[in-house]
Amino acid sequence: MNMETRELQREIQRLKEEKNAIILAHYYQRPEVQDIADFVGDSLELSYKAATAPHSTILFCGVTFMAEIAKILAPDKKVLMPYPGAGCILADMALPKEVEEAREKHPGAKVVAYVNTHAQVKALADIICTSANAREVMEKTPGEEIIFLPDKNLGAYHARSLKGKKVILWDGYCPVHQTITLQSIERVKTRHPQALVVVHPECPPEVTEKADFVGSTSQLVRFIAQSQAKSFIVGTEEGTLHQIAKKAPGKELLLPDPVPLCHQMKMTTLERVYKALQEDIYQVEVEEGIRKEAERAIRRMMELS
Ligand code: SF4
Repeated sequence: MNMETRELQREIQRLKEEKNAIILAHYYQRPEVQDIADFVGDSLELSYKAATAPHSTILFCGVTFMAEIAKILAPDKKVLMPYPGAGCILADMALPKEVEEAREKHPGAKVVAYVNTHAQVKALADIICTSANAREVMEKTPGEEIIFLPDKNLGAYHARSLKGKKVILWDGYCPVHQTITLQSIERVKTRHPQALVVVHPECPPEVTEKADFVGSTSQLVRFIAQSQAKSFIVGTEEGTLHQIAKKAPGKELLLPDPVPLCHQMKMTTLERVYKALQEDIYQVEVEEGIRKEAERAIRRMMELS
């Protein structure tokens, strides 16, 4: 870490206190951004933090739908995003109009929306889920038919073991996790045959079927930290390794080849964090009608899981 980076981090800490701000960062953020955060977590953990933080400002280092959740759950707070153009291609794969059409086509089905959706889509859903609680939410959602959107891999992974429910899968996927294939893992495994393969459920079905462990980002971090094994091929976005290395020092952490990288997550830089805090810019807003409906669907998840 160079002097400039350290200086910038110090300045961000100072501004954060001056402005009564909390910095929340997702696991896929750059290491130097994770290091200035008060809390690093996955979507579910960050939602809870945003809802309960006593600070007047939340600076969210992630992609748009995550910062929207902070605003939905804490409408009286100022929510800032260092780079407001950081979107999620998976979230873009479900449009509000398409969700309305799917509801008309399947009038008896409940809509379970993955947290990786835009606020307007959350507002149309019966309930929200994250990769950490998707199975539980699907199981506890009343009725026999579920429209699960937008990630078909996550939906299919849990639908496999779900009894008594028909799951209609949306045709969406995360382009980052979709690059994690049996071949991309095998390229690394041949050189490290002893490594355990742990993957995120957004990976394609043939990958989750063969993995040694499947879990949300936080579940992967916990699994590796608690495991007796020494070497792991980690099938998720590369930023996660920064926290795993802190929580599980001494373990060998390997990534599939090619390395899964979310460019949108990397748009947040220390310079942009500093600028957003200093100038109070890039406030996240959600239209009140949409906010209330989206909040209803998110709170239902919080009650269920
Ligand atoms: S890793 Fe995938 S799901 Fe996550 S923000 Fe990037 S595109 Fe969206």
